[in-house]
Amino acid sequence: MSEDVLVVGAGIGGLCTALSLAPTGRQITLLERDQPPPAEDPDVVFLNWHRRGAGHVRQSHAFLARLRNIIKQHHPELLDDLKAMGARDLTFDMMLSDIQRAHYQPLPEDSDLTIITSRRTTLELAIRRYVERLENVTIRSGFFVRKLSTRPVANGVVEVIGVSGEQEDVPVELTTKTIVDASGKSGFLIEQLMEEGAAITEESESAGILYFTRHYRLLPGMEEPDRTKNPPASGDLGYIKFGVFPGDNGCFSITISVPEVETELRKAIMNPDIFHGITLQLPGLYPWTNSERAEPRGKVHGMGDLHSRWRDVVTDGKPTVLNYYPLGDTLVRTNPLYGRGCSFAAVSAELLRETFDETSDPETRQIIYNKRLRNELRPYYINQRAQDRSAIKRAEAALTPGYKKSWRGRIIESFFEDGVRIAIRSDVDLLRQAMRGFHMLEHPNKWLGKPKNFSRVLYYWARGKKRNVAAYPPEPGPDRTELMRALEIDHLSDLRLEAVEAKPAA
Ligand SMILES: Cc1cc2nc3c(=O)[nH]c(=O)nc-3n(C[C@H](O)[C@H](O)[C@H](O)COP(=O)(O)OP(=O)(O)OC[C@H]3O[C@@H](n4cnc5c(N)ncnc54)[C@H](O)[C@@H]3O)c2cc1C
Repeated sequence: MSEDVLVVGAGIGGLCTALSLAPTGRQITLLERDQPPPAEDPDVVFLNWHRRGAGHVRQSHAFLARLRNIIKQHHPELLDDLKAMGARDLTFDMMLSDIQRAHYQPLPEDSDLTIITSRRTTLELAIRRYVERLENVTIRSGFFVRKLSTRPVANGVVEVIGVSGEQEDVPVELTTKTIVDASGKSGFLIEQLMEEGAAITEESESAGILYFTRHYRLLPGMEEPDRTKNPPASGDLGYIKFGVFPGDNGCFSITISVPEVETELRKAIMNPDIFHGITLQLPGLYPWTNSERAEPRGKVHGMGDLHSRWRDVVTDGKPTVLNYYPLGDTLVRTNPLYGRGCSFAAVSAELLRETFDETSDPETRQIIYNKRLRNELRPYYINQRAQDRSAIKRAEAALTPGYKKSWRGRIIESFFEDGVRIAIRSDVDLLRQAMRGFHMLEHPNKWLGKPKNFSRVLYYWARGKKRNVAAYPPEPGPDRTELMRALEIDHLSDLRLEAVEAKPAA
């Protein structure tokens, strides 16, 4: 196949594009503004890799099963590389509740529900080194693409014929018939096309949260806490959500997400002592972060401007750009809480390969690519956006004095809390099916739409709390007032960590 493909960006989307297209024999050139990883050692890379083009690389990351399965199917050796660098597999059995674990019978398909986790810099390092070894892929680092070279084709349609920018301060122009834009959430090239008249459509709204991450390292000789003997290491307290991301080489990170409306808390949590103090107040995090087990490393990495954003380059069935194919965050952004961004990028790259293999006509390519994207990704996008909207409402309500939930709101909440959640913590097969939706292996609501599953959920809901008691996880932590009081969040200067480090009630 003698097609040359230029890819802007060698982040996750750019690397996934290379993984998808390289086996087809196309010549692929990735243009990346940042310098390459400075070393082979994941610790050095984590500390010293300057990634101005991807400011979120020090936020917790995990790859869902959909992405892992794509790698397993097309590049199984990459899974070995990831493992060799310390990336970890979180398998289905690790997600079972105590009562499920007692009588769990593994099925072969459970291996399709495995998550990969490690520091994002390590994930990227492993994929990058693998891609660099592929014969028909070149990565040009230090190449800042400033502009797309374009020409108008018709009203509302722009054709892309190349890129211009500079590599190590030397101006460069490249021509191309196929350009993939994987320049990430701040990529501005698509905006250039909109300004030039391409009738690209966009919908965007806030995900309603901010993300705060701090990294930890296990002390010498210490292992991770035993998951079967400790409370769940992730949870939702309404006013915050939290989770542990097991990392590579003795590292792990904790992420706490805070609703945008929690102005006091979101300011305070940037203080590393407050962040650490919160982890010590949560029974699921205390076993990980207490001073006998691990030590915190570095600052709190905060991240705002989190949006759901969907763009279409086909409007009313007609392409608005030719030769230009966006993917990754440039195309679709979602709330990072669902951990789907990298899988979205990888799936899009697969769809692009299928489309390119099918036709070389630029108009038909755009139409088919867009149709496939909508079929594959849109259901998850809509599902997540609906969840974000209701989480935003809940967070606002929690801060409204005297707020009372409506009768309908209470029923819906109970259905999910005491019905759906308890059913998937009780019945292994329901968990298995729900996880297929979570991991993007099938439509997110498919499992619950099956009459048999729905009636199982109703069964657990109707049984009531008393009979389901074993399926309820322990309380994830104190309520908002207690936490704020324990951490003296109104009086930051008085914070004394010793007072905070008292072990919380399990
Ligand atoms: C806080 C946070 C946590 C997340 N957690 C998860 C998670 O757990 N799991 C998950 O799947 N997803 C997660 N995501 C989403 C995921 O990080 C993104 O979806 C993913 O990085 C998208 O890949 P991308 O290639 O589009 O962008 P990026 O990975 O950001 O890569 C873009 C690349 O383009 C380069 N670039 C930009 N502009 C130019 C230019 N003009 N010229 C040349 N190069 C350029 C940048 O330097 C960068 O390397 C998270 C996102 C955030 C913000």
